[in-house]
Amino acid sequence: MTSTHGATNHQVSIQMERIEMRIIDAHVHTWTRAIISQKDIDARKIAAERDGTTPLLDSPVAALKEAMKGASIEKAVILPIDSGLNQDMPLSLRKKTDWHVEEIAGESNLATFVGIDPRRGKEGIEELERAVTEKGCIGWKMYPPNGFYPDSDEFYPYYEKATELNIPIVIHQGFTSRFKHVKYAQPVYVDKVAADFPQLKIVLAHAGTPWVEEALMVSAKNPNVSVDVSGWQLFASRAPMKLYQMILDAKMSRVFPMRMIWGSDYPLFEHIMPLKKWASFFALLQIPDSLTEIGYDQVTREEIEYVMWRNAARIIFGERD
Ligand SMILES: [Zn+2]
Repeated sequence: MTSTHGATNHQVSIQMERIEMRIIDAHVHTWTRAIISQKDIDARKIAAERDGTTPLLDSPVAALKEAMKGASIEKAVILPIDSGLNQDMPLSLRKKTDWHVEEIAGESNLATFVGIDPRRGKEGIEELERAVTEKGCIGWKMYPPNGFYPDSDEFYPYYEKATELNIPIVIHQGFTSRFKHVKYAQPVYVDKVAADFPQLKIVLAHAGTPWVEEALMVSAKNPNVSVDVSGWQLFASRAPMKLYQMILDAKMSRVFPMRMIWGSDYPLFEHIMPLKKWASFFALLQIPDSLTEIGYDQVTREEIEYVMWRNAARIIFGERD
């Protein structure tokens, strides 16, 4: 059997079977035109043209809830981004936090992080504390492509605060949009932080794509570092062997299954592979025969359960496993 056959069989089977697995989507986004900048709108138009689709200028929580329902996803974690130091934003930092907190009011299956650019200094640390202790945000989303390396000493007070608040940090890694700077998003710039703050829970978003080996290396050496697989729908859809290989590499370095977290980056990849299909693809993940025949292990259902539910419950929601 060729690998192409393996992938096709897998795709057929996921359409036929129902997913029976509890799922947390640990990486989603929501916005409307009221909270993003003109530059964000321009970048979305450029990305849409590149991908041959229409730009998504509004993606409110109602759309997320609908997609979750269709995909049998029980919980999702919204990761707001603070671009206020780079662009003219319609809302102040605080108001943006509050906007996200309000949109999930009464939604017990949704949680939100707070997005803060650590170059904001003391104001940002205060907002981090306010967002977590007063507003119920469950973590901090950091977006280095806005123009900073995460391991700068000047940000250490933030890591001390996040450790004290016992919240995880999700750090965007790898590929970014037109007007951001990708050089800041290399996993190696997280290693020093992870080593200096061993109690701090860090998640490297997108498994660092395209710096996957680097992300896995940083995670393998630092037990407090996990990777999320949001955005990997692209490979599931167009180059599944790349995804299988990433899982196997992660297994070899012991990042899989306990420190890999499932996510989608919803709604950014809906035109490539809709949430429902991505959830079933991963829930029913099978390493193709062409790889198991040459000695790679198959993945088990229990391992997938860790990635799709238990790791996020433990690392993001702070539940005891
Ligand atoms: Zn994202």
